[in-house]
Amino acid sequence: MGKVLWVDLTRGGFKAESVPEEAYADWLSGIGLAARLCGRRIPAGADPLGPENILGLASGLLTGTGSLFSGRWMVTGKSPLTGGWGDANCGGHFAPAIKRSGFDAIFFTGASPHPVYLFVDSGRAELRDARPHWGRDTFETEERLTAETGGKNFRVACIGPAGERRSLISGVSTDRGRMAARAGLGAVMGSKNLKAVVLGGALRIRPHDREAVQALSRRCNDAVQFHPPFLNGRMMAYAGTLMRMLPVQMAFDGLLLKLMLDKFGTASLNQIMVEAGDTPIQNWKGSHADFDRERSARLSPEVFNDTVVVKYHCHACPIGCGGLLSKEGPYPRAHKPEYESVMSLGGLLLNDDAESIFRLNDMLNRAGMDTISAGGTVAFAMECYENGILTRGDLDGLELTWGNSPAIVGLVEKMIRREGVGDLLADGSRAAARRIGAGAERFAMTAGGQELGMHDGRYDPGFALHYAAEPTPGRHTIGSQMYYEMYRLWEKVPGLPDIDAIYTKDSKYDNAADKVAAAAASSRFVNVLNGSGLCLFGALLGVERLPVFEWLNAATGWERSPADYLEIGARIQTAKQAFNVAQGLAPKAFIPNPRTLGRPPAAAGANRGRSIDIEALLRAYWANFGWDPHTGHPLPETLKRLGLTGGG
Ligand code: SF4
Repeated sequence: MGKVLWVDLTRGGFKAESVPEEAYADWLSGIGLAARLCGRRIPAGADPLGPENILGLASGLLTGTGSLFSGRWMVTGKSPLTGGWGDANCGGHFAPAIKRSGFDAIFFTGASPHPVYLFVDSGRAELRDARPHWGRDTFETEERLTAETGGKNFRVACIGPAGERRSLISGVSTDRGRMAARAGLGAVMGSKNLKAVVLGGALRIRPHDREAVQALSRRCNDAVQFHPPFLNGRMMAYAGTLMRMLPVQMAFDGLLLKLMLDKFGTASLNQIMVEAGDTPIQNWKGSHADFDRERSARLSPEVFNDTVVVKYHCHACPIGCGGLLSKEGPYPRAHKPEYESVMSLGGLLLNDDAESIFRLNDMLNRAGMDTISAGGTVAFAMECYENGILTRGDLDGLELTWGNSPAIVGLVEKMIRREGVGDLLADGSRAAARRIGAGAERFAMTAGGQELGMHDGRYDPGFALHYAAEPTPGRHTIGSQMYYEMYRLWEKVPGLPDIDAIYTKDSKYDNAADKVAAAAASSRFVNVLNGSGLCLFGALLGVERLPVFEWLNAATGWERSPADYLEIGARIQTAKQAFNVAQGLAPKAFIPNPRTLGRPPAAAGANRGRSIDIEALLRAYWANFGWDPHTGHPLPETLKRLGLTGGG
C-alpha cells in the first residue's frame, strides 16, 4: 500500500507515513517493516506496559497479491514476557483487511486515557469509545463491533479480559478465537487501553505482474490437490511408535504433513508425536510411557475432528487446516483445539479428559490467553504442588494433581480472572516462580520467560537451538531439523546442506556445522515468510511447491535470487537481536530450562540418555550470523554490512 498508519493514543492523533521503496526492498513488510520502523523508536529500557512501547499490527508483503497461503498477520512490540523483541503471528482474515483499509501496517504509540477502539475504513481512521465493550470476551467483542460498525466486510482484532488485566501471557484474537498469542502482546494492547481494531475498505494492491503471481498460485494449488481417504488416527499412532523404535529416520516430506493437515488439521499430530517422543509429557519429565497409547487415544485426531462441521480456511489457503465446531454444541462455532493447545493442556498435564480440553480451549480463546503458556504454567504449578512448594492452601483449595481435570479448569478460571492464586500465575511460570522463590524456577519450562512450544528439543535438537537462539525465544514455529528437511532450501540456495533420504537417529545429536547452517538458514527463511505474510504450513511443502521467492519477484518486479531474500532474513534477525541487546538482555539468558535440554538426561522414553550441547550450538549459530560467538551480540561489521547502524 506504500504507507503505514501511526496512531497516537495519548493525544488521539493520526499520521500516515509513506514507506520508501528501499524500505520494502531491504525489509519486505510484516515483521521486517515493524522491526525497521519500531526497533529504533522503542527506547532502551522502555517499560513494555508503558506508553513508550509501540504496538504494531502488520500484514505481509504478499498479502492481497493473489499468492496462496498469504493470510498471516503479525502483532509486534517489546514483549512484557521476555523483555525483548516480541512478535506473534496469526492467520484468519485480518491480514487482507489491513491492506484493504489502506495500509501495510498500523502502529500505536502512547496510551489512551480510557478504553477505545480504532476504526479504519479505506484510509479514514477514527478512535471510538470502547468503554461499553471493556470486560467483554473476544467472541462477544468481535460480534458486537462487527454489528456496530456495519457488517461482515469489517474485520476485528481484539483483546479479551486477559489482555485488559495485563496478563503477560495474553494475546490478540481475530475470527473468534484465532490468536496471535505469544510474547504477551495482548497485555501491551491492554496497557494502551486499546480494546480492538476494526478494519474495512475496498482498497486493493496491484502486483507488478498479476498473471505471473496467479500462474505460480495455480502451480502451488495443483501440488496440494491430493486427498487420500485412508489416513486415520490409529494408523498414525502406530507410525509414531515405529518412529520411536527404529534406529533410523526418513527425511520428512511436507506433502505427507499436508495430507495430515488436510484431513485432521494439527490434531493429526496428537498421538503420533506423543509416541515418537516429540510431545513433552508431564512438564517435560515424563514420556510416552506415562501417557500411553490408551491414554493418548482419548485425545486422538478423530476425537477432535468428529466434532467439526466445517473446515476452516485462512485467507487464500488451499488446505484449510482449521475446523469449526457445531452451532448446536456446547461451544458453538468455536475453533477446534489445535495440537499445541491439546498437548499443553493434555499430555503436559497428564490430562486425557478431552471434554476438559474443549472447555479450556474455549475459555482461553474467549479470555484472549495463550493456550501454550497457560498449559505450561499449570504444569509448573502442578510440579510445585507435587514438591510441596505450593500447598493446597496456596492453591485456594485446589487438589492440583497430575491429570485432575476439574482442578485444571478451576485453576485456569482463576488465572483468567486474576483471582486468588490465579493472580500469581496469570503472568506465566517464570514470573510466578520469581514470586514464589524456594527454587520454584527449576519447574518453569521457559526460554527467557516464554513457555516452550509442544515440541521436544531432545527429540529434535533443532527445536532446542531455535528455542534458545531466536530473539523471540521459545518458538516452535521457526525451525527444527524436521522443518529444514521440509523447507528444502538447498534446492534454491547454493551452498546450503542437503539432507539424506534416510539417516541414523544418532546423527541428529552431533553438532556438525551442517546442522547449524541449516538452523541459521531456517531462521533467515522464516523472517522472509513473516515479512511476506506466508503460512509456515505452506512453507513446509518445500520451496519448489511453495514458490516464495518467485512470488516475491512477480509481485514486486524485483529480480532477486533466493540468496538475496535470505540476506533480508538475516537483516531482520540481526535487527531483532540488536534490539534485545540494546534493551539490556544477554542472549545467553534465553537458554531454556536445563531439563528440556536433557540435563540431566531422561531415564526413559524415546529421548532417554539424550543431552543437547546448547552452548556449542549457540556459538556456531551466532557466528553464522556474524554475531559475537561468545556473547551473541551482533558485530559492528555485520551491522554495517546489513545497513544497521547498531542499537536495534
Ligand atoms: S494451512 Fe492452516 S494455518 Fe496455514 S493458512 Fe491454511 S488454514 Fe491457515
